Amino acid sequence: MAPRVILLPGDGIGPEIMQSALEALSALGVELDYEEHLFGGAAIDAHGTALTGETLTACKSADAVLLAAVGGPQWDTTDPDKPRPEQGLLGLRKGLDLFANLRPVKPIPALYDASPLKRELIERTNLIVVRELTGGIYFGAKTRSEDRASDDCVYTRAEIERIARIGFSTASSRVTSVDKANVLETSRLWREVVREIHKREFPNIELEHLLVDNASMKLIAAPRHFEVILTENMFGDILSDEAAMLTGSIGMLPSASLGDQKPGVFEPVHGSAPDIAGTGQANPLAMILSAALMLRHGFRLENEAAAVESAVEQALAEGLRTPDLGGTATTKEATQAVLKYL
Ligand code: NAD
Repeated sequence: MAPRVILLPGDGIGPEIMQSALEALSALGVELDYEEHLFGGAAIDAHGTALTGETLTACKSADAVLLAAVGGPQWDTTDPDKPRPEQGLLGLRKGLDLFANLRPVKPIPALYDASPLKRELIERTNLIVVRELTGGIYFGAKTRSEDRASDDCVYTRAEIERIARIGFSTASSRVTSVDKANVLETSRLWREVVREIHKREFPNIELEHLLVDNASMKLIAAPRHFEVILTENMFGDILSDEAAMLTGSIGMLPSASLGDQKPGVFEPVHGSAPDIAGTGQANPLAMILSAALMLRHGFRLENEAAAVESAVEQALAEGLRTPDLGGTATTKEATQAVLKYL
C-alpha cells in the first residue's frame, strides 16, 4: 500500500506552493496516497478552529504530514477567546509529540552572492540544526509579580536521550552538541547524557561540545566546521535563525519536525506571505525542498530526496530567480524549471 500523506495547504501562498511540491513528487514517480485537510485560518473559517479533531486524527494515522503555511491579517486578533491560525501548528506539534526540529542549511552555489557573508566563508557549507522542541525554558513554570519574573528551565534524561539519538543518527561524521554547561545545571545534564548516548550507541560519530556563545561566533566565522548542531530548545531557536541567514533567502528553507513513532511534519520555515498571496509570485523552493525532507526523513527515500535537491540546484544554476531572489520568475515558472531536471 502506498504511504498516506496528509496535505495541509493552509493559508495565503500555502495552496499555491503546495501545488508545486505535489508536481515535483509526481514527476519523481513516487507513489503516495494524499488526503487534503483545511488547516489554520481556512479551518477557522469553515469549522471555527484551526485544527479540527478529525484532521488531527487523520494526521496521527498517516505516514507523514506535508504542511505549507498558516496565518493572515484577517485572523489576527488580540482577543484570547478567538481562535488563531498558529494554534493549529501548536496543536499538531503536541498531538503528534514532535520533539525534534531539523533545519538543514545548505547555501546553493548559484545564490552564494545573496548571502550576507562572503562567498569564501559559506562555500560548501552543509549543516543541519537539530533542535529539541518540547522542553526547556519555553515550557517550564513561569511566575510574575510586579517587580519579579521567572521562567523555569527543565530537562529530563529521557528528553535529552531521544533528541540525542536523532542528532547522532542524522550525522554521518560529526555532531556538535551546544550547551551552556559552564553555568547551567540543565546543560550539565545535557552534556552528560549526550556523552553517554554517544559512547553507548554512536561511538563511530565524532562528538564535540561547544558553549552556545562560542557556537554562535563559529557559525558565522567558520560555518563549514559544522555538520550536525544538536541543541536544546532556546539555543536551537536562536542558532537556527542565525544559520538560516547564511542562505540569504527565507523562501529557500525547508524543515522537518519529528517524533518517536508518529508521522513527522514537513514544512517550509517561512509563513503564509499574505503580502504576495494570489499574485503568483511566491517562491515554491522551500516547499519543494520540504517534500524532499519528507522523502528522506519520513520514507527513507534518500535517492529521491537528493534528486529533488539537485533539481532545485540545477534550476537555480541555470538562472531561475523568483522576485524574492531578485528575479521575475512566477511560482509556475519556478516549478517548471525544477520539473525539467526531475
Ligand atoms: P512570512 O514568512 O509569511 O513573510 C515574511 C516576508 O517574506 C514577506 O515579505 C513575504 O512576502 C516573504 N516571503 C515569505 N515566504 C516567501 C516565499 N515562499 N516566496 C517569496 N517571498 C516569501 O512572515 P510574516 O509576514 O511575519 O507572517 C505572515 C503570516 O504568516 C502571519 O500570519 C504569521 O503568523 C504567519 N506565519 C506562519 C508560519 C507557519 O505557518 N509556519 C511561520 C511564520 C509566520
